Parts: sequence; C-alpha cells; structure tokens
Amino acid sequence: MQNCDNCGSDKSKLLYSINRFKKPFKIHSCRKCGLIFMKPFFSNKEIESFYKKEYFTGNIDDTKAFTYTDERKNKKGFTAVNKKRVKKILEALDSPSGKRKNFLDIGCSFGALLDEGKKLGFSVTGMDISDYALAELKRNSINIIKGSPETNDLPVNKFDVITLIEVIEHLKKPGSALKKIFHSLKKNGLLVIQTANMDGRQAKKAGKNYHYFLPGHLHYFSRKTLTEMLENTGFENLEFYYPCEFGLIPKLIKSKGDFKKPSDYLKWIRIIFYHLKSKIHTGNFALTSAMVVYARKR
Ligand SMILES: [Zn+2]
Repeated sequence: MQNCDNCGSDKSKLLYSINRFKKPFKIHSCRKCGLIFMKPFFSNKEIESFYKKEYFTGNIDDTKAFTYTDERKNKKGFTAVNKKRVKKILEALDSPSGKRKNFLDIGCSFGALLDEGKKLGFSVTGMDISDYALAELKRNSINIIKGSPETNDLPVNKFDVITLIEVIEHLKKPGSALKKIFHSLKKNGLLVIQTANMDGRQAKKAGKNYHYFLPGHLHYFSRKTLTEMLENTGFENLEFYYPCEFGLIPKLIKSKGDFKKPSDYLKWIRIIFYHLKSKIHTGNFALTSAMVVYARKR
C-alpha cells in the first residue's frame, strides 16, 4: 500500500500514464489532499541507477529522461544565479555575512551554490547521494554528508540555512525528510525549497506532457500541498516567490551559457516573457509553474 505522504490517505486517482520514457510510470493524485505522486514508485535499486555519472554529465542514454544541466559547463551563469540566491538568503537571515553561520545544501551535486555561500562567509556542508558528485566536492574542500535526508540522520540544531533546490520532488518520503530538516535547523533557521507548482496553469495546460514528469520525480507539489506539509512539520512564516526569489538578470546570464549562435539571443524574449508571466498569481493560482518557498523555524 502506498499512502499519501501528506495526509496519509490510501485513496488516489490515476491522473496520467507517462509513456515517453524507457521506463513508463503512472501519476496519481490523492483524493483527500490533492498531493500528486508517482504510483507505484520505482524500486530503490532502479532509482539509484538513475544517479550515475551520466545523470550529471547529461550523457544518459534515455536523453529525455533528465533535465539536469552540468553546472561546471556554465560556471559564469550558475555563479550569477547562486550569488543572488545566497545574497537573498542573507537578507532573510538579516545578516550582512554568513560568518559563524552553517549552510547545508541537500542534493548539492558539484557544490556551485555552496561555493557562493563560502565566498560570503558561510561554513558550508553539502549532502548528495552521488559518489561522482561528492568527489568534486572533496576537491573543493566542502564538508560532505553522503546520502539523503530520507535515509540518513542530520545533525540536530546545527544549520542556519538548508536548501532543497529541485530536490524535494525526488524523495519517496518528503514528509519525514522535512521533519529531519526541521530538527537540523537552529531556531530562526531558514529552509529554501524550489520545485514545480502543479497548480500553475503552465502545468495544468501541458497535462501529461508537462516536462516535470520525469522518472526521477516521485512527488509533485502545489502551493497548497507544500504549505500543508511544511506547516504540519512546524515551519512558519512561509513566503512564496514566482518564478523564483531572485530577479531576471542572473537568469539571462545563466541562459547565455548555453547559447551557441547569435540567434540564440532570441530565447531571451521567451525567458523575459516567462518571467513577467510568472508575476501573475493570486492565492493558490499562478500562471506559470515555477516557485520557490522560504519557510522558517521559530
Ligand atoms: Zn493526501
């Protein structure tokens, strides 16, 4: 039996059968709370096989299966985004620098976000399940926890900020992971989550073709279901950002890293339009499906 990880209900309805990958899967939604998830999940062994070296380098044989872009190939772009991200975190912590503050990035891959955290004074730790990714962290002398908040314990009352950037959707038991994260944060600590908003019109309109339906994504949230899960865990003062907590400029710099010919600059029009469209939202309604939430432990 696979119960809903948000409300515990065992009643779900089939939303979509996703057949565009080598490994097809089914997407259900909880009849009680609306949380969306893969059902049944892939086995742990199958899931583990997703995160080999090929996942990170983008050379996976089922090319449509993952959207991970290797941050090492676009250093300037990722630096622009991550620098803004860390500055925004400092603002939220009401601190001029990260000195004497502990920062944990879960699902950190090669540590690009932590590199920027380190530059702004944070004491940084990265957590990842991939040996391949962690070897790179070792080279950058970043503290490492190998594993995932689902299977590993986290140090209690240790971190001032914990980030889950496009990670929570990969977890089988996000609820129990959030509990460990909550206990691992200090009082007034900040959790930052980026994931897709399934209530956004972008996701609803695309239906089963929504690009976020991927073999590695086991849970799909909306503002409503993520709020419920965070508040049930004890998090308070939730702040949602659409499409993300930083502005347009770092995004344009990041996208430029993938441009190969002058006409690629036309893509900026689409990115600018998407960014502006994302600003149209009210309550649980949003036009696009990108969101970031800041949640606090009081
Ligand atoms: Zn539910």
